[in-house]
Amino acid sequence: MSASPYPLGLRLDGRRVVVVGGGAVATRRVPALLDAGADVLLVSPELTPALRARVDAGRLHWVPRRFAPEDLDGAWLVQVAIDDPMAAAAVSAVAAERRIFCVRADDRTAATAWTPAVTRHGPVTVAVFGGGDPRRAMTVRDAVRDLLAARVVSDGVAPPQGLPGGAAGASGAAGAAGTTAGRVALVGAGPGDPELITVRGWRLLTEADVVVADRLVPGLLLDELRADVELVDASKIPYGPSRAQEEINRILVDRAQAGAVVVRLKGGDPYVFGRGGEELLACAQAGVPVTVVPGVTSSIAAPAAAGIPVTHRGVAHEFTVVSGHVAPDSPASLVRWDALAGLRGTLVILMGLKNLAAIAETLIAHGRSPQTPAAVVQEGTTGAQRTLRSTLGAVAADARTADVRPPAVVVVGDVVHTLDT
Ligand code: SAH
Repeated sequence: MSASPYPLGLRLDGRRVVVVGGGAVATRRVPALLDAGADVLLVSPELTPALRARVDAGRLHWVPRRFAPEDLDGAWLVQVAIDDPMAAAAVSAVAAERRIFCVRADDRTAATAWTPAVTRHGPVTVAVFGGGDPRRAMTVRDAVRDLLAARVVSDGVAPPQGLPGGAAGASGAAGAAGTTAGRVALVGAGPGDPELITVRGWRLLTEADVVVADRLVPGLLLDELRADVELVDASKIPYGPSRAQEEINRILVDRAQAGAVVVRLKGGDPYVFGRGGEELLACAQAGVPVTVVPGVTSSIAAPAAAGIPVTHRGVAHEFTVVSGHVAPDSPASLVRWDALAGLRGTLVILMGLKNLAAIAETLIAHGRSPQTPAAVVQEGTTGAQRTLRSTLGAVAADARTADVRPPAVVVVGDVVHTLDT
């Protein structure tokens, strides 16, 4: 093929695309078509289980037989995803006759359209053609993806410096989204290992003008922020806990109203004992657009990192996550410890070190066996992770002797020993 392809973004929303074939190639191609909103008609005597699941979910139409010319009625595009060259050529011929572009998995040179290697970064889509060599296209695509993830590219088009939040005329990644107005994202940073933030959380972090970070947020994530990002350390805000929260809410709202893209970075998941709901309401009440990006919570990840699954077939069919920051006998306690003592499954206690002796006593007093396995995982998923294994009856004393410190989760239940070898 001598002439180079003409790149084009097809807007397939509601438009008929015919996919011929129901095997591995179709399985890989169909999701992007559905994502583009295409009205997909799949023609194939057989389907992979993944495609069948989408048919069952009503996401696409399936014609369970071999291709017939009338299948192309009303189609804007055809994807031929079959190995048989004769059958593929037959589809191509009908498509060409009707002036419908045709992508061919079996023979690129015979195709009238090529699909590029693609990487998506929020609102930005990068499509790469490798001059007929798909491997070259993928290599270039991978390099671009790495650059976008590292924000090296967007640095070149970063918002003007000096403006609060680089608001007006921002042309960075946020600008590309079509929004230059301020907004807030409450982002879960994960339990400690910087690689355990979500892809979306990481992307938003690279787009932020202001980052308001918690004490428990992985330091390495902050280390990679651009020099012009304003970093607010929420744990350094003076006043008592409730005034400090009001102050954080005020900072989020003020910065966003000044036009900044604000990321409120929180340990684990924003809604697990993280006061994310209060921050969301504060933003919403001020009319500031706000989104929540879930995070990997330490209540599951810290036990996992210590080799403890919170559920296991035949061992625990439930896990309960509870905060231990209020003593069980305190009038302020909202937890029915007596009821928790009656559960057979896994109990995960966050913020429970200080009250651990009273918590263990209460659980035992209400019937949970003192022999129940228990573990404490300190700084799970980080390089400083420590695990202490004990029993419900002894865990408080053992944790004190071993000088276990926060942040730590306490796990109670038979799952503590399930994966022991
Ligand atoms: N939103 C967080 C929890 C905030 S409460 C989440 O979803 O993980 C803070 C408590 O979380 C700490 O007191 C501790 O009990 C627990 N915690 C957070 N990070 C932890 C870690 N890396 N290892 C063990 N426990 C952790």
